Amino acid sequence: MKNAGTALYVHVPFCVAKCAYCDFASRTPRDPAEMSAYVDAVLAETTAWRDRGLLGDVSTLYFGGGTPTLLGDELLHLVSGIRQRAVLRDGAEITVETNPETTSPVLVPALAAAGVTRMSLGVQSFDDDVLTTLGRRHDAATAEGVAGLLAGSGMRFALDLICGVPGQSMTSWRDTLERAVATGAGHLSVYPLAIEDRTPLWREIAAGRMVEPDPDLAADMMLLAEEVLSAAGIMRYETANYARPGEQSVHNSAYWTGVPYIGIGPGAHSMVAAGEFDRIARAEGWYAEPWNLEPGASTAARVRFSVGEDIVSYVHQPVRPPQVASFLTAEEVGAEDVMLGLRMTAGVDAALVDTAGLGTVMEELAAELLVEFADGRWRTTSRGWLLGNEVFGRVLEG
Ligand code: SF4
Repeated sequence: MKNAGTALYVHVPFCVAKCAYCDFASRTPRDPAEMSAYVDAVLAETTAWRDRGLLGDVSTLYFGGGTPTLLGDELLHLVSGIRQRAVLRDGAEITVETNPETTSPVLVPALAAAGVTRMSLGVQSFDDDVLTTLGRRHDAATAEGVAGLLAGSGMRFALDLICGVPGQSMTSWRDTLERAVATGAGHLSVYPLAIEDRTPLWREIAAGRMVEPDPDLAADMMLLAEEVLSAAGIMRYETANYARPGEQSVHNSAYWTGVPYIGIGPGAHSMVAAGEFDRIARAEGWYAEPWNLEPGASTAARVRFSVGEDIVSYVHQPVRPPQVASFLTAEEVGAEDVMLGLRMTAGVDAALVDTAGLGTVMEELAAELLVEFADGRWRTTSRGWLLGNEVFGRVLEG
């Protein structure tokens, strides 16, 4: 396989306000100075990863959150600072996530001029009632206006949508899908609402003030999304992701195909080959006191790690050892690669399934019409997409 380089993710953990369903690593900033100090911390951490030798061949760069555009002009400083430190491939995809309330007509062309190639806009719905239930800070008209701004920016752009929201009807969902298509977005992510513990929506449901999302209705909405989007030439390429030809997300595809990634900032995850991790851990003294990180890399194939989620301690000390590290065996890596591959319509090569020792599991899933084998690849069937959690879970269990 051609060397896929490294995917670089930069986390910006600030939002205008917390949405009612959100359990992501984000919060409102204390003041503008906190955002500025955060940008400095991120650049210091990026310098450290450059010096550790992992940013010499970056194939895709993604600014996510949170809401990176809440940084305003500081975001331009951040983009150029990262580009000065990491060696990006020619034509590398550079994505910035944004929300309607922070996407200004001044910032958008400035981001394009700074080299950003793609914007990902959190719309979630074009129904104001649904937006209110979700606790979003924008209305449908604002989202439509911002989508128009992005369409004229020369950058590629993507929209995120949520279905299965309490009170959301099929008619409302169809209208949202059709208005999303009409924006000209090249990429659409479509997720059923998940109620995460201790979020405001979870509390509303627990107190009996709101009905729980109906999983059958959400499944019907996912089917409607496939119908409406594919009729518009926006084809599914992953369980929850659709794109016009050539508009697939390079960055997200990297996560689904085992490409190493470095995540900068609290709440961001990294994954590298165990040998690389071991080399860095030894050079940085992470296995020694006071860190005493478990030296499990010698028996692992890959290592996944993060610096935790606390913003204040991160800003104070951005260059530090991982606080959480999982050492994945070759067997676990194989199962994970096959599971992620099955989430994509391209499926997985038979050789990968054999190497992971998952031939029997795949035969069993095929007998239940959940996967199929053709042209040397295993792919998830339409029935398998509907029962995705079961398919992916059984692959991971081996
Ligand atoms: S904008 Fe996104 S990250 Fe921020 S609170 Fe809402 S869902 Fe969470």
